[in-house]
Amino acid sequence: MKIVVDWERCEANGVCVRVAPEAFNLDEKDQLHVLVENVTPELRAKVERAVRDCPRQALSLARD
Ligand code: SF4
Repeated sequence: MKIVVDWERCEANGVCVRVAPEAFNLDEKDQLHVLVENVTPELRAKVERAVRDCPRQALSLARD
């Protein structure tokens, strides 16, 4: 599974970074970065929670 960000919707509020810091990072310019190419089984629950909790519905998961 891959993380897909709708950059039109993301407002860089950092909710996903707090929920899943292994998968998301905000840089000093408040630009969001996705840190993982493929979501591992270990990370899946956290990433799914970030998708659910994103207040802008900017995140989704896509099959490879
Ligand atoms: S939670 Fe959503 S809006 Fe906030 S930084 Fe992450 S993707 Fe962007």
